[in-house]
Amino acid sequence: MNYATIKYYDIANGTGVRTSLFVSGCTHGCKGCFNEVAWPFDYGDPFTPEIEQQILDSMKADYIAGLSLLGGEPFEPQNQRGLIGLLRRMHEEYPEKTVWCYTGYTYETDLVDPAGAAHCEVTDEMLSYIDVLVDGEFILEKKDITLQFRGSSNQRILHLTDREA
Ligand code: SF4
Repeated sequence: MNYATIKYYDIANGTGVRTSLFVSGCTHGCKGCFNEVAWPFDYGDPFTPEIEQQILDSMKADYIAGLSLLGGEPFEPQNQRGLIGLLRRMHEEYPEKTVWCYTGYTYETDLVDPAGAAHCEVTDEMLSYIDVLVDGEFILEKKDITLQFRGSSNQRILHLTDREA
C-alpha cells in the first residue's frame, strides 16, 4: 500500500486533534473529488513499518484523540490489507483512542454484506476497530460546505461504537 500524505494535529477530519492518514488508490471517480491526485494506487510513498510506527508514536500525547483514515479509499480491498496491521496495533496499544474512517463505499451493501463490492477477508475485522465511519461517494450536486465532517448531504456519519455517540 502507498499513502498520499499524513496530517498531524488535524482538526478537520473527526472530533478533537487527530493524526490523519490519506492512503493512495481509489476507484470511485467522484466528480469534484477533493483529492483526485490520490486516485492511482502507486501515488505517494510506500507505507513502511517505519511510517506505521511514526503514526503510532504520534498517539502518545493525551490530547491526541485518535486516528483518521482517508484517501483515496481506505476500503479498497488492497488498502484494507495494508491498514489492518496498523488498526490492530491501534486497538492494542491505544484502546482509549478512537478511529474515524472515510469511505466512498456504502456500509451495509458494500462492506458488511459478504457479497459486497469491497468485502474481503479482513473487512469485518477492520470495521470492528472503527468507531465512526463516514460513508458514501461524494456527489457534487449534493455538496454542502455547511456540513461538518462531510462533503455532500448523501454521506452519513455512522457511529459503529458508542464511544463517540
Ligand atoms: S471516494 Fe473520496 S477519494 Fe475517492 S473519488 Fe470519491 S471523493 Fe475522491
